[in-house]
Amino acid sequence: MRDLAEGVQRFQRNVHPRKADLFAHLAGAHAPHTLFIGCSDARVVPELITDSEPGELFVIRTAGNLVPAYGPQAEAVTASVEYAVAVLGVSDIVVCGHSACGAMTALAERQDLGPVPAVAQWLRHADTSRSRVTTPGDVRSLVRANVLAQLTNLATHPSVAKALAEDSVRLHGWVFDIATGGVEVLGAGSHSGADAA
Ligand SMILES: [Zn+2]
Repeated sequence: MRDLAEGVQRFQRNVHPRKADLFAHLAGAHAPHTLFIGCSDARVVPELITDSEPGELFVIRTAGNLVPAYGPQAEAVTASVEYAVAVLGVSDIVVCGHSACGAMTALAERQDLGPVPAVAQWLRHADTSRSRVTTPGDVRSLVRANVLAQLTNLATHPSVAKALAEDSVRLHGWVFDIATGGVEVLGAGSHSGADAA
């Protein structure tokens, strides 16, 4: 924790004062334009890769950037999606997969998830993604199929379905490449999003 504590001190000393006006504004206003759903992977940092300021992105990060289809159980992802869309009124939603994703690699390579049963259970939300990729071990294709499958899941959430019907929200599928910093915008129903989101 020592490094984190030092990081907090550097933030308070160097970063926060530089953005004092922004933080003063944000203290009383929360109006992000985009719901960004990414992987929990430490290498995929939403604000960094989109060069966004605090206050711009409402972020959900899950293992494998998975969005469970809407269900009666109130769980964290569902609640956060609903809040972002119905209360905050975001205009864009990005689901962002990435290269070298551990979750997608485990699925593509049929790794034994016996020792991590909660992970195995969670990754069931990628069953549809896996069914769309016929070549075993094809992580690259699975990452892309998974982003599109999660966009489909997202649309089952009533708040998202309503916003889509009213044309008040746009969905985007991205894949971030860790090595190059590139972002591939996926088609198949998603709008080209790099500038819009
Ligand atoms: Zn990942």
